[in-house]
Amino acid sequence: MSNLIRATLIPGDGIGPEIMQATLAALEALDAPFEWDWQVAGLAGMQAAGDPVPQATMDSIRSTRLALKGPLETPSGGGYRSANVRLREAFKLFANVRPAKTIIPGGRYENIDLLVFRENVEGLYMGYEHFIPMDGDPEAVAIATGVNTRQGSRRLLEYAFESAIALGRKKVTIVHKANIMKALTGIFLDEARKLYKAKYQGKIEMNEAIVDACSMKLVLNPWQFDTLVTTNLFGDIISDLVAGLVGGLGMAPGGNIGEDAAVFEAVHGSAPDIAGKGIANPIALMLGAAMMLDHVKLNDKAARLRKAIDDTLNIDKIRTGDLGGTANTKTFTDALIARI
Ligand code: NAD
Repeated sequence: MSNLIRATLIPGDGIGPEIMQATLAALEALDAPFEWDWQVAGLAGMQAAGDPVPQATMDSIRSTRLALKGPLETPSGGGYRSANVRLREAFKLFANVRPAKTIIPGGRYENIDLLVFRENVEGLYMGYEHFIPMDGDPEAVAIATGVNTRQGSRRLLEYAFESAIALGRKKVTIVHKANIMKALTGIFLDEARKLYKAKYQGKIEMNEAIVDACSMKLVLNPWQFDTLVTTNLFGDIISDLVAGLVGGLGMAPGGNIGEDAAVFEAVHGSAPDIAGKGIANPIALMLGAAMMLDHVKLNDKAARLRKAIDDTLNIDKIRTGDLGGTANTKTFTDALIARI
């Protein structure tokens, strides 16, 4: 039996292959024991197999149950359906986990250490949308239906509470809009209250915040929060907001955790404006790889990777252009590898 961990690798579109190459070099320097099964998705999937999530990619993730994924291009408005959303559905990736931690001091906010758990498969993102024609306009009225289930809410909430406690965090804030969307987000809040009372009271603090007020408080005083847990659409917005507190999407990783697989990624997109120039910041995907190392219990290697990123940025002061530096992807990665 080999000790290698089989995992699916999807380089992604745009800057994806560039930052994936950098991330693989870092993982290699760490002697991370992954055996990669290379697959395509997104635009590359369309080009190779006429499908943004080709069957071979599905089969690979079904077998490895673990994937590292570069950003995938999705056309806005018309065109094919998001490959990311399809992967979430296919592998029931119900929890989107987004840590946001300050790495570069001296920004607008210091010492940020937030963790966001977003429900990833229900809510207003199920794509139940249609138009109603009126007065000769076929698209006069747009309708979207959100679906939150008690069971789906509980699954995410349990995962979030268990993870927060295991990570030694102090407080979970349930973010909702149950004052207005009384059923759709009320069910989530109701489940949170019940679950907390039944299982987690005394182990961690819990409080509640309405999403609009919570957004303002996150900008005015983010240190009052610790772990935020919320439904799909609010989680999408809140997790980008907290990424902004720590220097933007170039620094933000995400994990999609499910019943049938776990997929790790950078939060940003394929950055078509800088693709092919070799100047992209690979940190977000590298931090996604660190989350993946933690997931397979290689916590030492994850810590070494995070420290190497920190040292390269703060001791060597080597940074890519988006962080105000002059390094390109390769010079940053070479410096980082020297730190591993
Ligand atoms: P984007 O995140 O690709 O780019 C926004 C801006 O940030 C651009 O100016 C870009 O150059 C910059 N940027 C992003 N990542 C960077 C990095 N690592 N280093 C330096 N600069 C970086 O967002 P967008 O332009 O709205 O989306 C482009 C495409 O990506 C779309 O097709 C979208 O659907 C897709 N997308 C995919 C994912 C994903 O796969 N997880 C997430 C978001 C967007």
